Amino acid sequence: KLAQHSNPEKLASELSILDRKHLLHPSTNPKAQVQHGPKLIFSGGKGIHLHDMKGNTYIDGVSMLWNVNLGHGQKELADASYQQMTNIAYASTFYGYANEPTVRLAEKIAALAPGDLNTIFFTSGGSESNDTAFKLSRFYWQLRGYTEKRKIISLRRGYHGVTVAAQRATGIDAYRNFSGSIDPDIDNAKAHLTECELGAKDHPEYEGSIRSIIEKEGKDRIAAVIVEPIQGAGGVHIPPEGYLKAVRKLCDEFDIHLIADEVICGLGRTGKMFGVDHWEIVPDFMSIAKGITSGYAQLGGVIMKEHIRDTITEYDDMLAHGFTYSGHPTACAVGLKNIEIIERDGLVSNASLMGQELEKGLHYLEDKYHFVTNGRTKGLLAGFDLMEDPKADIPFDGSVKAATTLVENCYERGLLIRPFDFEPGMNIVAIAPPLIVNKNDVEK
Ligand code: PLP
Repeated sequence: KLAQHSNPEKLASELSILDRKHLLHPSTNPKAQVQHGPKLIFSGGKGIHLHDMKGNTYIDGVSMLWNVNLGHGQKELADASYQQMTNIAYASTFYGYANEPTVRLAEKIAALAPGDLNTIFFTSGGSESNDTAFKLSRFYWQLRGYTEKRKIISLRRGYHGVTVAAQRATGIDAYRNFSGSIDPDIDNAKAHLTECELGAKDHPEYEGSIRSIIEKEGKDRIAAVIVEPIQGAGGVHIPPEGYLKAVRKLCDEFDIHLIADEVICGLGRTGKMFGVDHWEIVPDFMSIAKGITSGYAQLGGVIMKEHIRDTITEYDDMLAHGFTYSGHPTACAVGLKNIEIIERDGLVSNASLMGQELEKGLHYLEDKYHFVTNGRTKGLLAGFDLMEDPKADIPFDGSVKAATTLVENCYERGLLIRPFDFEPGMNIVAIAPPLIVNKNDVEK
């Protein structure tokens, strides 16, 4: 379409002017945006590649926002969407209404999810899923007579979204504190991703751990602990072996729900269907979004265990929660097709195999450049650190944005990846290509 446009350059400059005037961008410096306009105006994409209006091609090294898992321009997903839209694009699931793709997708997810995570509440994205998990956890405790069990414990560097509750559970200060939001029941983003949960009070990192918070607050005031199986936007942090099992045990010991935020990890990204599958734990709730439709439609959901569903379904009045797009039929039809393709094309095992290639590549970079260190991958969720002197454990000076510089350089060379440098001295780069990548793509 663009090629047909008489003057693509003129079109790009027109869009840039309109963008600066009429669009406020998420997670973007607004002043710079108004001054300089969009950095990139996408015009199309195919597979792992993206094209912009200037005629440049990029490798999408982070699947946009870790979500375009089947890659761009996937026609089967478009066809599934078209078919559903021309049949019935939207139908509500409020007031007991149902439709086929929504029910079928619920069944399919129950079959894929571990243990007895068999019931889903649909949302339109990750933040809504986490807010819903918090509400359903608290509602469950209320129904059981524990009205004080309301607090949510989350981890430092965890990212759970930007609605007020998900925002306050997020352990990245810029997001957590944006616009001065508060929620007295979610004030615990202090716990570290450490091995402390495995040990006892004499562990050097006991202070600030999940266990210490539970002991200080009292288990009767805590509804749930939320963790990403592998932290994404906090800088790709893979937990130490045994950590998630220990957190599961801790939650059992104190009768607290465990919420796994699988918004990035879920649906194959890490080389298993879900992130928790690496450590064989079954959380009480699991939040999903992104990879459920590979970004071709907006959809999320919270999957819950049977005993939670059983308690909630004993409630004999209206469940006063729900989004207009909870169980959107078109999004669900896309979700069903997306899972069908993931299974048909063996993309979960491809993510695992290609992850091993990516890991080799990261080690190659570590050998080649002394400032590249701590390369880590789980399937196609990967990250590495940049440090002044990794051997002596010396980070770059806080004023040095090494990760941003590196990512800018990659951008100039046609690769889109993501920097994380929200703490002084933190310089992390994330790579998370679509699950369809092959060995050549990874090597490139
Ligand atoms: N949880 C995790 C782990 C995420 O990575 C994200 C988004 O990046 C969210 C929740 C929020 O999802 P959404 O942006 O769809 O609301």
